[in-house]
Amino acid sequence: MRKIGDHAVVLGAGMAGLLAARVLSDAYGRVTILERDPLPGTAGDRRGVPQGRHAHLLVPGGTEILDQLFPGLLDELAAGGVPVVRDLAELRFAPAGRPLNLRGRPAGPFICQAGRPYLEGLVRTRVRAIPTVAIVDRCEVVGLSNDSARHRVTGVRVVRGDAEELVDADLVIDATGRGSRAPNWLAAIGYDRPPEEKLTIQLKYATRHLRRRPGALGGAKVIGIGAEPDRPTGLVMFAQEDDRWILTAFGYDGHHPPTDPEGFLAFIEAIAPPDVFAAIRDAEPLDGIVGHRFPANVRRRYERMRRFPDGLLVIGDAACSTNPAYALGMSVAALQAAVLRETLAGGDRDLARRFLRAAAKPAGVAWQFALGGDLAQPSVPGPRPLPGRVLNAYVDRVQAAAEHDPVIAGRLLRVISLQDPPTRLFRPSTAIPVLVYSLRRRPAVPVDAGAVDTPVVGPRA
Ligand SMILES: Cc1cc2nc3c(=O)[nH]c(=O)nc-3n(C[C@H](O)[C@H](O)[C@H](O)COP(=O)(O)OP(=O)(O)OC[C@H]3O[C@@H](n4cnc5c(N)ncnc54)[C@H](O)[C@@H]3O)c2cc1C
Repeated sequence: MRKIGDHAVVLGAGMAGLLAARVLSDAYGRVTILERDPLPGTAGDRRGVPQGRHAHLLVPGGTEILDQLFPGLLDELAAGGVPVVRDLAELRFAPAGRPLNLRGRPAGPFICQAGRPYLEGLVRTRVRAIPTVAIVDRCEVVGLSNDSARHRVTGVRVVRGDAEELVDADLVIDATGRGSRAPNWLAAIGYDRPPEEKLTIQLKYATRHLRRRPGALGGAKVIGIGAEPDRPTGLVMFAQEDDRWILTAFGYDGHHPPTDPEGFLAFIEAIAPPDVFAAIRDAEPLDGIVGHRFPANVRRRYERMRRFPDGLLVIGDAACSTNPAYALGMSVAALQAAVLRETLAGGDRDLARRFLRAAAKPAGVAWQFALGGDLAQPSVPGPRPLPGRVLNAYVDRVQAAAEHDPVIAGRLLRVISLQDPPTRLFRPSTAIPVLVYSLRRRPAVPVDAGAVDTPVVGPRA
């Protein structure tokens, strides 16, 4: 790629920041990542990414891009002991409580099950190895600097130790996550704040690591049971590196998972099929139970601002943060990194407008999935306009058909894994059999049907 600038600065060394830095290294002479936390040498929990203690699935839409950006990364993960689902029979996924019939469907490298700190550690090592990229930790970004006309962001103000410094850049990318202060920083240099959309869901996560008894759950590697309108709780459990399992339970307002061992187990019992519950009850707990609150889906519409400065982009959770139960955030960041690569290939003219518009697309898909699923919960306050209800009713029928038909289940899985656009589900080749199934009103398959090798997680958390 043609170099279009000398120095790009990325704010935040989370997944979005690391992926953006990898892409920028092809287009800028040097790239500096500024991170507030002290960064561990390899994998490790850290303050700036508290969600890293909870289950993080990288769905195939994201996996494919990571594999392109870092050739061999998936092999490296597998060699390090990270289980990778290669056969869909290893999945038990029940979006909206309905098990997908994935029997007989082949899978390429599919869902990557690394612990978030492990995956981030490996990606950070790869990014550190790029000679033109520097990662500066213990460095807090506190604002933007700009040219005298206030048309262009020219760098950032940072605090390192006790001193405030200026870091100049041709391009600044905000990847500081959900707590991003870019709206305030923009206001401080004379711009409006972005329009913000918000859906309050009052979700709570609780997580613990386990060592399962040998043979428990057979060949299953990922188990996911989504919430239903009359059961606002769910769980995800999967095998990880170091021969351990991560178990995350979640619940909407009024149905939060307890963090004491007995209460947590009783919460799980009310969700899990008997064999899954038995495996959890009999497993060895490896740590205490940690909770995490996720109050709301939040989307900042930078692409809709009338005036936006040159030299600044926003990526990842800083622009859009959705209900984690849909497991899409890291993959949206990866898709936006791919968008960044395409946008940079077109040069730096009008870069911010072109990038922000294109990056809003993958974010918009995740946003629609989250809203569709969350508004199916009676406890979630918000308008439920007719088009949304019609769409939800159709998705419901797709899910019902996917309980029986492996082809429809496979198509649904590709859409909720961000490999295919949602419009795929409206093509006649899917819509017709879905309508036929819905007319036949086939009975629902119980969540525990077929136990170990019945694939059961999807657009509904
Ligand atoms: C409980 C939970 C579970 C989740 N599960 C999944 C999942 O299963 N699958 C999935 O794909 N996604 C999941 N996500 C979403 C995922 O964590 C994020 O979407 C993903 O990490 C991308 O985030 P990011 O890089 O934009 O921000 P973050 O990962 O939050 O990183 C932001 C970085 O910026 C740094 N920073 C912040 N402010 C400053 C500052 N002023 N100066 C310098 N540095 C700063 C922080 O320290 C941090 O390193 C989950 C989220 C939560 C809350």
